[in-house]
Amino acid sequence: MNLFDVYPLFDIEPVKALGAWITDKKGDRYLDLYGGHAVISVGHSHPYYVDMLSRQLHKIGFYSNSVKIPLQEELADKLGRQSGYIDYSLFLCNSGAEANENAFKLASFHNGRKEIVAFTGSFHGRTSAAVSATDDPSISAPVNHSPNFVFAAFNDIEAAESLITDKTCAVVIEGMQGVGGVQVPDIGFLKKLQEKCHATSAILILDEVQSGYGRSGRFFAHQFAEIKPDIITVAKGMGNGFPVAGVLISPDFKPRHSMLGTTFGGNHLACAAGIAVLDIIEQEALLENALAMGSYLASQTKGMEGIKEVRGLGLMIGIELDFPCADIRKQLLFNDKIFTGSSSNKNTLRILPPLNIKKEELDIFIGAFSHVLESNKVA
Ligand code: PLP
Repeated sequence: MNLFDVYPLFDIEPVKALGAWITDKKGDRYLDLYGGHAVISVGHSHPYYVDMLSRQLHKIGFYSNSVKIPLQEELADKLGRQSGYIDYSLFLCNSGAEANENAFKLASFHNGRKEIVAFTGSFHGRTSAAVSATDDPSISAPVNHSPNFVFAAFNDIEAAESLITDKTCAVVIEGMQGVGGVQVPDIGFLKKLQEKCHATSAILILDEVQSGYGRSGRFFAHQFAEIKPDIITVAKGMGNGFPVAGVLISPDFKPRHSMLGTTFGGNHLACAAGIAVLDIIEQEALLENALAMGSYLASQTKGMEGIKEVRGLGLMIGIELDFPCADIRKQLLFNDKIFTGSSSNKNTLRILPPLNIKKEELDIFIGAFSHVLESNKVA
């Protein structure tokens, strides 16, 4: 059987990794400033994480949600404490798209409505309702085209207010747009969005799948705006590569048996991964490191020739060039052995290193990047 060919692949085969470094089959070492689509939060194969997962697997790796799994409570307790959402409840699932699907269902069960307001440039996943809320017609099939999903211009409060009515089930917005090229919502915009949701009894869903888990320098990016959404979705950095995701749900929502469900969600191994990540974030003060390293990287890249704008918060950084960035990314990868990310904005590179990246590691990128930009100018 062949693999169904949906990904353009780089000719690199990673065989091991540690921290911010990946080694391929040929023995070449790469600096990873992208974490495989923003997933690696505490560094590849962190010893504490490896130990926690290995010990758990020796005990029990999986059982379904028909039995008690105390690790789920431990994970929920730690997540509540570290994020500041101690009074919320947690539903565990497996991916970002799945978390958003469940968030939409919860909102709709809660207020009985069905219209979702999303934003231009948004990405919420590739499954049914998640892709309907995603602003990319190229990944949406006819079955996903639904009049229940409407789009307002990002950061445009008048456009949003005109769409949010007492028919609106929920408003969904990323803490920071990732795939859209690292676009930060204005603080005033988020505050007004929350006000409009309260006024119309629409549910405010913050998709923190990419921007959450300390990436912005706060546990959640929306916390810079001091808003309190009704529902928050998380995935990516939550498991540092182990598939685990979650929906944080306000105490106003009343659960009912079988309202939501999953076979794999919240299994023993997934919880061990989630707990290990939270322990490392706390023990290594990674929110502080994300803030410090993020502002260092932004300050060092901002003045460089060929750069139009450096955007983002903490270690979620978008570097917009004056020209398409595809060749620059390839040169960084194949000549300098540095992984960076692309975005739906063809001029914008995404930089999402592990949250414990060191200054010396960022300096390797800064040197290589300025050299690549310089040589492209000459060429
Ligand atoms: N939401 C956001 C903000 C994302 O960036 C992504 C993935 O890139 C998703 C949801 C979907 O997550 P997953 O690929 O785990 O389904």
